[in-house]
Amino acid sequence: MLQAPQRYLNFIGNELTPADSGETIAVVDPSNGETFASIPRSRAGDVGRAVHAARGAFEGAWGRFSAMERSRLLMRLAGLVDAHREELAQLESRDTGKPLKQGRADAQALSRYFEYYAGAADKLHGQTIPYQTGYTVLTVREPHGVTGHIIPWNYPMQIFGRSVAASLAVGNACVVKPAEDACLTLIRVAELAAEAGLPAGALNVVTGLGAEAGQALAEHPDVDHLSFTGSPETGRRVAQAGAQHHCPVTLELGGKSPQIVFDDADLQAALPVLVNAIIQNGGQTCSAGSRVLIQRGIHDALVEQLIERFSALRAGPAMADLDLGPLVSRRQLQRVWDYLSDAQASGLGFAAQGTVQDNAPSAGFYQAPVLLTRVPRDDRLFQEEIFGPVLVTTPFQDEHEALALANGTRYGLVAGVWTRDGARQMRMARAIRGGQVFINNYGAGGGVELPFGGVRASGHGREKGFEALYAFTNLKTIAIRHD
Ligand code: NAD
Repeated sequence: MLQAPQRYLNFIGNELTPADSGETIAVVDPSNGETFASIPRSRAGDVGRAVHAARGAFEGAWGRFSAMERSRLLMRLAGLVDAHREELAQLESRDTGKPLKQGRADAQALSRYFEYYAGAADKLHGQTIPYQTGYTVLTVREPHGVTGHIIPWNYPMQIFGRSVAASLAVGNACVVKPAEDACLTLIRVAELAAEAGLPAGALNVVTGLGAEAGQALAEHPDVDHLSFTGSPETGRRVAQAGAQHHCPVTLELGGKSPQIVFDDADLQAALPVLVNAIIQNGGQTCSAGSRVLIQRGIHDALVEQLIERFSALRAGPAMADLDLGPLVSRRQLQRVWDYLSDAQASGLGFAAQGTVQDNAPSAGFYQAPVLLTRVPRDDRLFQEEIFGPVLVTTPFQDEHEALALANGTRYGLVAGVWTRDGARQMRMARAIRGGQVFINNYGAGGGVELPFGGVRASGHGREKGFEALYAFTNLKTIAIRHD
């Protein structure tokens, strides 16, 4: 028997509430294409209510919490997320199509974000500054007030965790606009936050379309800081909207991150990492290692091993928990198909392709992983973020050319360098344009503690680690004259 779609609601002022208009958006399971839930289609009025609730909390009960009390509350929330890990993982996997093991890893990372920032909440402090005789000068770090968080669909729990946990830790009140394709776990986590004791209004989740609810949040004059994660084009729009009311904006945008393999590298160590960096989450990862640059002498031999591994990869329903799930939406699948048909039209054949499980529902959004080799620097597949399980390789001659290729796109997010030569490791790490460089590894397992962000079209500002706490606070200088 068909079940009626479950109706999810906004979370405003610690209450579940529909959009003022009563309108909803269907939530589709990417594994089978079926609608199983709905979320509110919120607009400016709903966003306004959430911002008002946040302001009330900041100026009221939440604003009176000491750093130690915030710390204890976030630690309780980390515990609740842990206790509900399996429920959250299953919900996330159903909503986004990610394999269950990835859903579980995301839920674990979410709890770790709350734990990490719980530990940091009472350790952020200012300085005293030597100044003229008769003065004492000190700095204090203060919350902005109301922070807006616009989240993409690829890692809702992780991206929510990294910005909301840091923002709450320093005393801001948050309004979150999740991506329309991935809202469900964030509504659930907001309920858990209330259960942990978060006062009404300190954390609000408002769902809706980007051009409506997202734009309204970016434009709202009572939002004091915006944290945006998503595409470069939307990031530009959000920054422009924020600029209208002089609102600081952190932009975490896309990437076309290179992994550079020199001929002295430990290839057996590199191989599984090269593959995983592009198939994790179906390649729908901003920091996906989507270009492998290989020194000419070992290019063909390494490609042969990549072919073997790619051919063995399997995609299937999220709950089958294979190498990959479906992509998040039909729109995303179409986007990947467009790139792949362009590649074929320009004569780039597939060197290898994985498979989709035989009995995967035909209405699901499946794309088997694809490997393309010897892709030239000026090709779209080398330059543009595909956001799917598509890996390209390109040969290079020497360090100089490797660097030119690595830095040769509009992005600058993450890079991996594989070499045993210590001096070269350091030269490459310093010369690569980006926010994170990994030597003989890639991603370091996610690293909640490691500052993250990009340059150029990959964005600006840093989240994660202790660094995020600076972005979520204002520095105030107080000069006291006492002679
Ligand atoms: P997107 O830019 O389409 O959407 C991101 C969010 O912005 C969603 O919540 C969406 O509803 C909202 N939005 C859309 N239009 C808006 C508008 N006019 N005003 C305000 N908000 C609006 O991106 P996406 O398709 O959800 O995510 C994929 C992109 O995100 C990729 O480019 C990827 O690389 C990037 N991304 C970056 C990071 C990072 O940390 N650097 C992490 C994940 C994803």
